[in-house]
Amino acid sequence: MKKNHKDVKAILKRLDALASNLWWSWNPRAQEIFKEFSPLIWEATNHNPIAIRKQFSETELCARLGDKDFLERLLSVLYSFEEYMSAKNIKGKSSKGQVAYFCAEFGLHECLPFYSGGLGILAGDHVKSASDLGIPLIGVGLFYRQGYFSQHIDPNGNQLESYPTTDPTNVPVELVLDQSGKPLICSVTIGTSVVHFQGWKLNVGRCKIYLLDTDVPENDEHFRGLTALAYGGDVNTRIRQEIVLGIGGVRFLRALGISPSVFHMNEGHAAFLTLELYREQLLKNIPKQKAKQVVREQCIFTTHTPVPAGHDRFPADLIEFTLKPFADWMKISIKELMRCGQTVNMEDKGEFVMTILGLKFSRAANGVSEKHGQISRLMWGELYPGIKSNKVPIGHVTNGVHITSWATSRSWEFWERHNSHKWKDHLNDPKFWKHVTNPKMVSDEELWALRYEQRRDLIEFIRSRARSNKTIGGAVGEEALYRLLSFDALTIGFARRFAPYKRALLLFSDIVKAQELFDDPRRPIQIIFAGKAHPRDNDGKEFLNRVIAMTHKPPFLGKVIFLENYDMNVARHMIAGCDVWLNNPRRPLEASGTSGQKIAINGGLHLSILDGWWSEAYNGKNGWAIGDKVKDNFSPEEIDKRDADSLYHILSDEVIPAFYQRDKNEIPRKWVDRIRNAMRTIIPVYNTHRMVMEYSKKYYFPKK
Ligand SMILES: *Cc1c(COP(=O)(O)O)cnc(C)c1O
Repeated sequence: MKKNHKDVKAILKRLDALASNLWWSWNPRAQEIFKEFSPLIWEATNHNPIAIRKQFSETELCARLGDKDFLERLLSVLYSFEEYMSAKNIKGKSSKGQVAYFCAEFGLHECLPFYSGGLGILAGDHVKSASDLGIPLIGVGLFYRQGYFSQHIDPNGNQLESYPTTDPTNVPVELVLDQSGKPLICSVTIGTSVVHFQGWKLNVGRCKIYLLDTDVPENDEHFRGLTALAYGGDVNTRIRQEIVLGIGGVRFLRALGISPSVFHMNEGHAAFLTLELYREQLLKNIPKQKAKQVVREQCIFTTHTPVPAGHDRFPADLIEFTLKPFADWMKISIKELMRCGQTVNMEDKGEFVMTILGLKFSRAANGVSEKHGQISRLMWGELYPGIKSNKVPIGHVTNGVHITSWATSRSWEFWERHNSHKWKDHLNDPKFWKHVTNPKMVSDEELWALRYEQRRDLIEFIRSRARSNKTIGGAVGEEALYRLLSFDALTIGFARRFAPYKRALLLFSDIVKAQELFDDPRRPIQIIFAGKAHPRDNDGKEFLNRVIAMTHKPPFLGKVIFLENYDMNVARHMIAGCDVWLNNPRRPLEASGTSGQKIAINGGLHLSILDGWWSEAYNGKNGWAIGDKVKDNFSPEEIDKRDADSLYHILSDEVIPAFYQRDKNEIPRKWVDRIRNAMRTIIPVYNTHRMVMEYSKKYYFPKK
């Protein structure tokens, strides 16, 4: 009895280590264990193991371990986790130093709402892959206690925003302490004020992320809320947040005794870090030119938007007000500091552009797809006088996704069944995926069964949400349990930020054609929408409102659905359950896009404009392309019309017929063939393992 008691303590300790490491977020078997402890709390807390852990006593654990089957599975998960953690730098380059990866947002899991969208998800996936690959990478970001926002739709179809507060003691983060056991506090000077901040540590497998938080008693009341909201404030808040992230981030790493050999700025929000590195050099009395060179050797910059307005910029007087004392300290004039964020021709415009700052102080830079690399070279050519645009030193690394985070537990088990654990070790190996997607390895019947299982999971998820009115369109309440959507219908997904250029309503732009598509009882289709509009984007909100109006119109009723509060959880259900993932932004405004990359591992197919990653990945057989690749000299309205016509044509002549062309066993052979082609060509390339290896070889640790 006594010995048993001791064992329980040991297991409890190991379980605590598991709960506080986000490794569980890409291991469905670990998630299953927590869910089994308390299914209610698991659902109620957006799948949060720390909240679960708080719910069970040692006495309960002791009793639950009496269930031999449960104990066996628990021990097996603990063993996998500990083995993962102990494997040292498999492909690592630790001798070459550490990489500090700065980003304004990190999307790691739905229970940690520190992200708004694509940029954050990409950053989270980047860190997870770095951990898997043994790349010594440390993330730095901001701790948004109130996140981005939670979305609700009112009865008139308008978006309402709420800002629930995250209690740090209830989620998998740990306050960083100093040697005396007190919170480690650092500070930055902003204008005439000193702003203090602490840091929260996230364990992401073998990597760590530090999120900075100004909500400390040392601060004046108005600075305590500085880091409360992601992208919530005006330029005044924004520049202050970015000073904490960039300048503060470097100081926090220094206070921890960390000296990275590479600083990777993921988008311009973090570019102030270069000024802090510059200051460090100047204070060592290194001459300016040399100091800049030293900074440049340590920094790399990734830009994420081809839209000029998407780049952070600040007016001169704001830079002067917030950074004058900093410039004084460095012994440079504020004018000189201003110039760091400007091109030669810009100075009279008086704006400071964060991307320019990042580019000027980086030894290498990149866009996030081949096409975006080209556009970026044209956009920023002015910074490289005398260099032809195709020689501008901005390359590209195409974005990817962390496959094991986006495989549902069903597809995870599917791949385990087919090749045991090996698939996880071959995520960026095209030969392996050619082999495992061979019909001899995976039959049409099995793939089609996987599609049916996942479609049903999504529809049941939607029905259960509709029951509590979190779904808009069609039936609500108990009726929704039986009547909403069809398990057999071709299911299309469209989930993205409601920005006008994403053209959420393209499918409905010719209402007669849209009705024909949705009204065919022999070949039913249905579409599920999700996405948030930025709280201050009124055009985006207007689009959202029109999508919601569509869900109530008779021909679309019960077939066009809007799911509230798009987050990583809603995303995971949608990317797995939808047969077709629709993406129709106006070209060339999508730098890469990643949601369409999440579907391949689950057997979905991509139907998209040839923009971003899709113009590289599309091969004619692994999905469908809307519109054409040629540069068109039409007005935006004409382009919209042409793209809509193309979309109607592809849906009615290709997508829908392929889905409904069945053999005697009810299997759509051609469709399944396309799935196999998509898996083979997309899974091993458009993932963050390939992406992080590319960053590592090209930019972090290039061979000299
Ligand atoms: C993947 C993902 C995104 C990014 O998708 P895009 O295709 O780049 O728009 C945004 N939000 C959530 C919740 C996601 O999971």
